[in-house]
Parts: sequence; C-alpha cells; structure tokens
Amino acid sequence: MTDHQPLHPQDTAFNEDRRQLLRLAGGALMLSAAGHAVAAQLAPTEKPSTPPEQRQPEPPGKRLGWAVVGLGEFALGQVLPALREAKYSRLTALVSGDPAKARRVADQHGVDPKNIYSYDNFDSIRDNPDIDVVYIVLPNGLHAEYSVRASRAGKHVMTEKPMATSPEECEQMIQAARAANRKLMVAYRAQFEPRHVEVARLTRTRAFGNPRAITAEFVQNQGDPAQWRLDRNLAGGGSLPDIGLYPLNFSRFVLGEEPSAVMAHISSPPNDPRFREVEDRVAFTLHFPSGVIAHCLSGYSAHRSSRFRIMSERGWASLDPAFAYERNRLTVGRRVGQQEGIEERQVEDKSQFVLEIDHLSQAILENKPVKTPGEEGLRDHVLMRAIYRSAEEGRRITLS
Ligand code: NAD
Repeated sequence: MTDHQPLHPQDTAFNEDRRQLLRLAGGALMLSAAGHAVAAQLAPTEKPSTPPEQRQPEPPGKRLGWAVVGLGEFALGQVLPALREAKYSRLTALVSGDPAKARRVADQHGVDPKNIYSYDNFDSIRDNPDIDVVYIVLPNGLHAEYSVRASRAGKHVMTEKPMATSPEECEQMIQAARAANRKLMVAYRAQFEPRHVEVARLTRTRAFGNPRAITAEFVQNQGDPAQWRLDRNLAGGGSLPDIGLYPLNFSRFVLGEEPSAVMAHISSPPNDPRFREVEDRVAFTLHFPSGVIAHCLSGYSAHRSSRFRIMSERGWASLDPAFAYERNRLTVGRRVGQQEGIEERQVEDKSQFVLEIDHLSQAILENKPVKTPGEEGLRDHVLMRAIYRSAEEGRRITLS
C-alpha cells in the first residue's frame, strides 16, 4: 500500500467531524447540530458594556492588562513570572476561590487589591478597564465556562491547553468570542518556543528534503489518584488531552498539514486507582496527505520523557527533551561530505511563555490574527475524538 492509497470506505462514518474540520479550513466556522444545541444553552444574555466598534484604538506602546483566573501550580510557577517579563502585557487582576491566597499573590505581584475577583463576582470584570485580557488557567473542564463569560464581559481570552473537553465546547468558546468581537487564543506554548519554531522552519523550507516520518512522545507519572487530572469531568480525558496534545499539535504545526487518518491503541492498568475514569497510555498514528506518518505516544504511568524527531530525506531534527518549560535541546543529523554529522543547534533562548503572552497582546494592539486561535484548539479536539474512536473501535478512522 502506498502512502496515498485511499482508506477504508466504512470510515465515512467519521464524516461529520471531517466536515467540521473542512469548514474551519475554509475559514467559515459553522456549528454542528450538537454544537448548536450547547451553544444555544450558553447564548449570550448580556453584551459587553461598550460595543467593540465604539472603543478607541489602543495607544502605541501600551502594555495590556491581564487577569489570571486560577492560581494553581502552573499560574504561580510560569504564568505570573512570564507576565512580569513581558513587554506588551502586565498582570493587573487575579481571580481565585481563595481570598487569602489571592491577597498574598496580589501583594507579591503588585496587583491592586480592588482588582481581586472571586469565581462568583467574575462577570463584573466587564466594568474594569484595567483588564484587557483574561488568561484561564483552571482545570480543563472549566475553560469553556470562563472563556465564554470573559468574552461576554468584552475581554480578550487566552485559555490554557487543552482548549476544553470537547469540540462542542470549543465551538461555544469560538462563537462567544466572535459575538463579542474579541480575540480567543489557545496557549500552545510549543508553537512559540524558539527551538520548535526552528524545527518547523527546517521542515517547511525542506532544508533536509521532504519529511517522511515523525516519532513523538510525552509521558510522565501522575501520582495522586484524587487530583483533577484523573477526574473525567474536570480533565476531559487522561494523558491524551493533557500531554498527548503536544505530539499531536506539534506534528501538525511542524508539517503545516492536517492528518487525513488516525489509528490508535489505549492501554490502562485495570487495578490502578488512577485510571478508573481516564486513560493511561495512548499510542496514536497520524497519516498526512503528503505521506508523512507521525507515530505518537502519551502516558501517565512512566517516568517523565518528552521527545520529538522528524526524519526527512537527507537529515533529521530531534528535540530531547522536547516539551520542557526550558532547556529543550535541538540536535540535527545529516550527511556532510562523506560523513554522517550530528550537531546540536544553538538557538537564542527566549521564554516560550513570554513570547506567547506578548503575541496575543501585540495581536490585539495591532489588530492582527493570532497564530493559535480557537479554531486551532477545535481541530485538535476533533482529532482527539477520532483518536479515542479509533482505539475504541479498533480501526483506522479517516478524516475525508
Ligand atoms: P492546578 O491544580 O495546580 O491548579 C488549578 C487551579 O484551579 C487551582 O488554583 C484550583 O484551586 C483552581 N480550581 C478552581 N476550581 C476548581 C475545581 N473545581 N477543581 C480543581 N481546581 C479548581 O492545575 P495546573 O497544573 O495549574 O493546571 C491548570 C491548567 O493549566 C490546566 O488546563 C492545565 O492543562 C494547564 N497547564 C498547562 C501547562 C503548559 O505547559 N502549558 C502546564 C501545566 C498546566
């Protein structure tokens, strides 16, 4: 069988999800029947206080005000420090269910105590001109609700990955942002990491010839069985949406191509209390129309490892570690004269978190599109649904 051979005809059952992807690719998002139903439930009841078209353009050089929702490990460890370093963004508000913690964090980061909100009075951010952007750093199952509420309050939104817990929720978020004429971005940090951008550049410029195959993995041990990441409603799934998303999204980004079929296997230890509701290991293969095969793996029960390698006709590029917060390592291998050469590429080290945060602020200030909008998150959710379906039904799922 060649790379381009048509796939199984019975796979047309997946057509609805594919249609959703195609509509996105054409730039016009239309809701599926399911999406309509959920979106209708969440249809905006209130409009932003000032209609977007009446707002004044932002003055040049302005640092936009960001509100961070959820003060957990990632927000405190990565997001708040990045906002301190950012050029076009600054922390102006906090949203938390723990008032004492919020006061402490506000004090540490110079946030005016009047700009501390709870989850209950969150909607009143609409009256606060200090807030331009809302960054949602809550468990995945809460992203859609807070994103929709932030859009209705007239604010731009950055949401952590995974964008939500289903394609339908992604559609609600996209619709709410569109109705409010505000931007919606998904925090796909790897698309901003300088070494990752270099791998995409090498691949897309065909520096080593045509790409042929990818291997990508992200596994780690999840300890506490009571944490939200192992709760289906709050997490939306197990290792796949949490860390399998990196091999999935990054393969698409590097190739600049959408998969035409997926095939997957899932394995979870039957008596491990961590995997009562969500899956442990997911091995999935993405088939791309160019013939590239990406073989990907995520897991929640093995020591941390993240790697990415793309093999092209005349060389390869490898990231190991690939998806760490810092000090990812890029190596390339190719033939130099008669010899095989392997070289570590030095790329200017810049914080991927600062870059992605400032990207959204700049896009708002300059009224430009964002690199990783809601539609990008929706594509991954449609693909993840196909991956789960492939594992469940034990067959390849085509997306055409
Ligand atoms: P966390 O558990 O450390 O923090 C979650 C925060 O949400 C806590 O402050 C908690 O109090 C609050 N919260 C509000 N309602 C809650 C509820 N019903 N149940 C549980 N917590 C609730 O989690 P985290 O690791 O900071 O992850 C938060 C988000 O950030 C997730 O979407 C995750 O996928 C994402 N994340 C992204 C990266 C990345 O590299 N981009 C890394 C880690 C986490």
